[in-house]
Amino acid sequence: MSSPVKLVLATRNQGKIREFRRILDAISNGAIELVGLEEFPHTTDVEETGSTFKENALLKARSICAETGLPAIADDSGLCVDALDGAPGIYSARYAGVHGDDQGNNAKLLRELENVPEGKRNAHFTCAAALVLPDGREHVTEEIFEGSILFAPIGNQGFGYDPLFRPHGLAISSAQMSAEEKDLISHRGKSLRAIAPHVISLLTSLG
Ligand code: IMP
Repeated sequence: MSSPVKLVLATRNQGKIREFRRILDAISNGAIELVGLEEFPHTTDVEETGSTFKENALLKARSICAETGLPAIADDSGLCVDALDGAPGIYSARYAGVHGDDQGNNAKLLRELENVPEGKRNAHFTCAAALVLPDGREHVTEEIFEGSILFAPIGNQGFGYDPLFRPHGLAISSAQMSAEEKDLISHRGKSLRAIAPHVISLLTSLG
């Protein structure tokens, strides 16, 4: 059997790497070896200057592909709230000003929705995933996870806006779901499952 094709996932988040490895392994039969950025400690953090999730995912994947010389996958995600015209959207990670300030972001979201009643608090998470090959071929997927914004945080699993997000059809927040339950219906799980077959067909055709 030929040796596996190496694919870089543009993240240092071990949870994301494990999740995508599970998805790929289930359909690739060992043909692809997924590695994270910990194998490439000197890659630059590309600026997310795109105006859409897809553009930002592509920017990250192109940059990692160019720097490593290997096929690369990157994702970009965020929360879009209907009553806020889609905000925080691509600015989700730094909504309150500081990148990754989950508490500040959640507090700001609650303030912005203070006068918005139940029934008008619809929102969705979006996740774009981009695959870029050294020969220039690219493929992008985008999926959403629909729900509504609660009036107070609940639950301590997950991350980011999970304590304020109630998935449609459920009576709990996404911070009260196990990682496996959330993967099945989340924007990220769906986007990675959607791109996985393209990864297999594009990468295994490289020889
Ligand atoms: P990025 O895709 O790593 O740039 O993350 C964007 C931001 O969107 C995160 O910092 C979170 O604030 C938010 N976000 C994306 N996906 C989720 C999720 O599944 N749960 C909660 N927050 C999320």
